[in-house]
Parts: sequence; structure tokens; C-alpha cells
Amino acid sequence: MKEEQQHEEIFVEGTSHLDEETLFVVSQTFKALSDQTRIRILNLLCTEEHSVNEIAETLGLSQSSVSHQLRFLKNLRLVKFRREGTTLYYSEDDHHVMNLLKQAIKHATHH
Ligand SMILES: [Zn+2]
Repeated sequence: MKEEQQHEEIFVEGTSHLDEETLFVVSQTFKALSDQTRIRILNLLCTEEHSVNEIAETLGLSQSSVSHQLRFLKNLRLVKFRREGTTLYYSEDDHHVMNLLKQAIKHATHH
């Protein structure tokens, strides 16, 4: 049921004319998904929230590199965070882009 609704949404919103702002956001979206580190971070956050530390440790990256990418993704509103004491917990903030990522991963592995 949920998947049917998502498909419907895609077709209903489909349009032949793309205004400048739409083109900009779409290209920014693919830009966000065009970096291997960002792909790994988003893939990690699509299941549950994680602290910056957990992300860095799980992916074997430096905290500063993870923080840099999280700021990039936050600016595009693809992730959000909540603060607990001094710890920031990040989670995904856009199911459309998460679906795009999942589709791309399926595409890469369906052979
Ligand atoms: Zn495919």
C-alpha cells in the first residue's frame, strides 16, 4: 500500500516543464548522491539515527570529514539532527532522496 502511494506520487508530480528552481534542486540532489562518502553516510542513516562518532567509527572516517559531509547534507535538508548533551544524533530527513538512493543501490546490484 505504502509503495503504491509512492509510485502514484511520482507520476502525479511528473511534468514536462521544469522551472529553474526545480532544475537547480534536482541537480543538487544528484550532486549530493554523487559522492561515495555521502552515499555511505546516507545509507547508514536510512535505517536509524547515529551520532557523528558512531558514523565516523562505523565507516572508518575522521570526525571532521564526517562533520563536513553532514553539514553539506543538512544544508540540502537531506539529514536532520537532535542534540543530547554535547552529542549530535543525525537521521535522514527526506524519504524521496532515500528512495532514490535505494533504487540506485538496487540498480548497482541487480545484475
Ligand atoms: Zn537497474
